[in-house]
Amino acid sequence: MDDVGPIEDLSIGEQLRVCPGCGYLRGFHLSLGQTSSRKGYKIIVVCPNCGARYDIGLKIPKDNG
Ligand SMILES: [Zn+2]
Repeated sequence: MDDVGPIEDLSIGEQLRVCPGCGYLRGFHLSLGQTSSRKGYKIIVVCPNCGARYDIGLKIPKDNG
């Protein structure tokens, strides 16, 4: 992994745009991490400015078929 620090929980609220870590205003990069059940992925957002990572509480299934 990287040296950015642990993934923290973040609620979306009205919109997901401002990084609570550094105040960056222009949104996030998106990353995926495997869920503990390995049946899907959790959506992780990454601040492009400070690199902080946040779990926004959304998951997607691995196979939609
Ligand atoms: Zn940031």
